[in-house]
Amino acid sequence: MKKNTLLVVEDEVLVAKDISARLTQMGYEVVGTAGKGKDAIARALSLRPDLILMDIHLRDQIDGITAAQEINKTYDVPVIFCTAYSNNDTLERAKISAPYGYILKPFDNRELEINIEIALYKHRAERALRETEQHLDTTLRNINDGVVATDRMGRVSIVNSVAENLVGVTASETQGMPIGQLLELKDFETGVHNVDLRSTVLEQGEDLWNVRQYLVRRNGSEVPVEISANLIRDNETDTNAIGMVISLRDISQQIGYERQIQHNAFYDTLTSLPNRTLFLDRVGHAIDRTRQSSDYRFAVLFIDLDNFRVINEGLGHSAGDALIVDVSHRISEAIGHADTLSRFSGDIFAVVLDDIASLQSVIESCNKIKKAFATPFSVNHRHIEISGTIGIVLNNGNYRQPEEMIRDADTAVHRAKREAKGGYLVFDTQMHANALRYIEWREEMQQAIDAQKFEVYYQPIISAETGHVASMEALLRWKSDKYGYVSPADFIPIAEESGLIVQIGEWVLRSVCKQIASWQLELGLQVRVSVNLSAVQFEQKNLTQMITSALSESGISPKLLGLEITEGVAMRDIELTINILEQLQQQGMPISIDDFGTGYSSLAYLKRFPIDTLKIDRSFVTEITESKNDQAIAQAIVALAQSMGLNVLAEGVETNEQLDFLIANGCEFIQGHYYSPALPAAAASQYLCRDKPIKKTGT
Ligand code: C2E
Ligand code: MG
Ligand code: MG
Repeated sequence: MKKNTLLVVEDEVLVAKDISARLTQMGYEVVGTAGKGKDAIARALSLRPDLILMDIHLRDQIDGITAAQEINKTYDVPVIFCTAYSNNDTLERAKISAPYGYILKPFDNRELEINIEIALYKHRAERALRETEQHLDTTLRNINDGVVATDRMGRVSIVNSVAENLVGVTASETQGMPIGQLLELKDFETGVHNVDLRSTVLEQGEDLWNVRQYLVRRNGSEVPVEISANLIRDNETDTNAIGMVISLRDISQQIGYERQIQHNAFYDTLTSLPNRTLFLDRVGHAIDRTRQSSDYRFAVLFIDLDNFRVINEGLGHSAGDALIVDVSHRISEAIGHADTLSRFSGDIFAVVLDDIASLQSVIESCNKIKKAFATPFSVNHRHIEISGTIGIVLNNGNYRQPEEMIRDADTAVHRAKREAKGGYLVFDTQMHANALRYIEWREEMQQAIDAQKFEVYYQPIISAETGHVASMEALLRWKSDKYGYVSPADFIPIAEESGLIVQIGEWVLRSVCKQIASWQLELGLQVRVSVNLSAVQFEQKNLTQMITSALSESGISPKLLGLEITEGVAMRDIELTINILEQLQQQGMPISIDDFGTGYSSLAYLKRFPIDTLKIDRSFVTEITESKNDQAIAQAIVALAQSMGLNVLAEGVETNEQLDFLIANGCEFIQGHYYSPALPAAAASQYLCRDKPIKKTGT
């Protein structure tokens, strides 16, 4: 172990020598001696001993006490005074320099050693304590939380700088202050003063953990804090409280975030309108009211923007967002103050029409909403016309759950989209049944696609001139495991609405191309087959690409692949349709307008469509022999086709009489059960084989 180093200050040289010798004998290292105060100071500072044995009375202007004071100013070292005599005065003075020992000459070795060891121990202990305090102090200063400590009476002893700033005080002015005066707290919810730290923690011994409170600052303002308070117990007894320590954290920012999150949970960020969650809640409250009062009724409206997707994709999402905000303003102006408007999802707004008198008043509200759409919207300096389709559900006490009303409003708006785009429709129970069927079928159909349960049938089309097959129409057949045979008239609309038609349509087209190739290869026949295309397929960007790839994969001529579209498809997006059809026709594919006469084609546009054939719809053929009206329509279509240089075909011909009338009136092609229903591929092959002359007509 390292020896402790000592400095001996003694003006009697012999005494100094004697003491030094004794100390060395005891095992200390005497690093130096000094006889004068000045020397003592200089040597202490240069030698840095562990302890100084200091004679009080030096023959010098500077005595031992003054020297010790001087030394301790810059160097913290324990000093033991020794003196031969002492008066009270000297003793008093010696106290000032906080000596570590006081020993009267003459002293024996034992006395000296005990004094030195005690002084060294005391000094080490004090230094350790000081270091701990410094650590604590640094910690308190650097901690992010405010820290306040009190004694057992609840009087403030420590306040760190964070706490100073938080309360708006300086630590010095708080010393000894009752804690309740420094930390004035109010309940977070009620704003009532209810936490008394002194009685809760010090008297009842309860700890507080992260309790939210408002802290009243010195300037009177209030800041939300999270506060914890714990008892400080006496280490030895472990029961007696010797004070408490309180930590507080400013949570203003956190509260701000929390409020924002809570707001976001119930409000749409774009429009600041109630979102779906809050809307459902409002509907729930309205339902509760219908239970309480029998004459209270309300309605839920779903407003779905028409063709919003086009705007979003065409002008960009920020334009779409701006439009949504505009629309939200207009709708909220159109409805009553008591009504709730919500942005339910993307382009769907929902309204609770509160306390309605009758269906008539709902219709009036719908008209007001529709009127709100009448003036074009201005987006990116453009005028955009947009309409909304409305689904209506009335609650006369018949709904118990908000979700049921939402479900039916959704059904109504979907139905309205199909039947009355830009209009409104009131939900009825039949719709619910249909919606259920829709969901079930969609699932069943998805499975059918995966399990390849679809089949293409072929229906011969006969040339009136030759009496032989001119071409075929491909018609999709589905025999569901669950529902048996399902008519395309039923499942195609569902496939279209669910988007499944894209996959199914592609599959039909590729199957047909393969079939044409195989007839060519196996029977040596060039059979032209036309395929029905749905509107949804036209919205697909890669339609022409898909058709071209199917053709080149099967290696057949584009002339053998006909395409059928209905008037509805053609008129949906005229420019787009014309564009696509032109590309396809240029490759050689013949194009027919299906179900002609049932839609609302504009003749002006019809002229621009690159088409080859008009197909007279079956509805005009069925009663053609009896109905003068149908006869007139059929004749008009034939005349129109002739004037435009188009072929004309009649669908659904079942009887000889129908056939005769149509042929007599110039119809060139016949399709119908009179000749054959749609046949599976194998049966169609047999039909073709019996009908040899096709080679002539097909080329
Ligand atoms: P469509 O294109 O007008 O097809 C003619 C429909 O009339 C077919 O009904 C056909 O079986 C039926 N038909 C033909 N001759 C007669 C007849 O003499 N009497 C009677 N009662 N019916 C006759 P189907 O196959 O039920 O198809 C219905 C509709 O489903 C089709 O009308 C077409 O719009 C659509 N469809 C069928 N297959 C497909 C397809 O692969 N894709 C698309 N997108 N739609 C298809
Ligand atoms: Mg067709
Ligand atoms: Mg048709």
